[in-house]
Amino acid sequence: MEIYKQIWDEIKKADNILLIAHINPDGDALGSELSLYPILKRMGKKVTVFNATKPLPEYLDFLPNFDKVTNKLPKKTDLTISFDCGSFDRLGLEEKPSFLINIDHHISNTNYGDINLIEPNHASTSQVIYDILKANNIDIPADTAVCIYTALVTDTGSFQYESVNDKVFECAADLVRCGVKPDFVSKMLFQRDRLSRLRLLAKAYETIEMCCEGKVAFVEVTKEMMEITGAIKDDTDTIVNSVRALAPVEVACMLREDDEGIKISLRSKNYADVSKIAQKHGGGGHIRAAGATIKGEFDFEKVKEMLKKDLKEIV
Ligand code: 5GP
Ligand code: MN
Repeated sequence: MEIYKQIWDEIKKADNILLIAHINPDGDALGSELSLYPILKRMGKKVTVFNATKPLPEYLDFLPNFDKVTNKLPKKTDLTISFDCGSFDRLGLEEKPSFLINIDHHISNTNYGDINLIEPNHASTSQVIYDILKANNIDIPADTAVCIYTALVTDTGSFQYESVNDKVFECAADLVRCGVKPDFVSKMLFQRDRLSRLRLLAKAYETIEMCCEGKVAFVEVTKEMMEITGAIKDDTDTIVNSVRALAPVEVACMLREDDEGIKISLRSKNYADVSKIAQKHGGGGHIRAAGATIKGEFDFEKVKEMLKKDLKEIV
């Protein structure tokens, strides 16, 4: 495809390249922005891997070149490539870069780049990167493969979501041929749990409230719970997924008390499009996973009532 070639042409032309992903990065964001680093270095480019969030999530510290990620911008940039980021404000940049390529798979992407490659049917942004590399006959070193694979695992819930199809497995198989050890990635991601997270889960589960005949479940995480258990923000990541796993639930919603307001995380199972609800409240995401922050609002009950009205329409 033309745009896949065009993106590589822009990369070839640039000397100073900035790789960037959304704030509070998940496996896909960090895996994607780190994936091109070894290839671009090999091409002799000056490469900066930037993320505005510090510290980065510890559970991703096994990603090759994790220690290269910086929250300081370079003086000179010819080309900026953003990954997995649906809107410009979530990059944490103050100014628009001179030339920006926006690579993503969020259906809600606002096309803020000079070139926009958005593939909503791809399971992860890293899968889009894989396709770019293949389209341009670029060899995939093991360090790159681990990043792409990890992003694929985290964004598909370990190959469980509807986004998983033959192409995803073909991509994964090829990455294994490039040097990925799936059991190593799984152990790094899922076998290094923290006691603080389990203690937080126990507290959060006590708040579960079901409505809409059990099709909707809310779960709450307060700052107090985090303080008592010693949990950190990363510890809240998968709570909402486990609430969705309840048999009757179609939509699970986590409300988390943050500095700027209440952060909502929405997950659906079979049919409800939660990205629309997140967008209505100033956020975004995917059909089955979306989020937003209700800024300046700290009343859990009020936010729940508001969301109940929205959710009733779609479950
Ligand atoms: P999570 O609930 O894990 O924070 O996010 C689920 C999905 O929704 C992710 O793909 C994430 O990028 C997106 N998302 C979460 N919060 C926001 C937000 O405030 N704005 C936008 N645009 N997307 C969000
Ligand atoms: Mn993603």
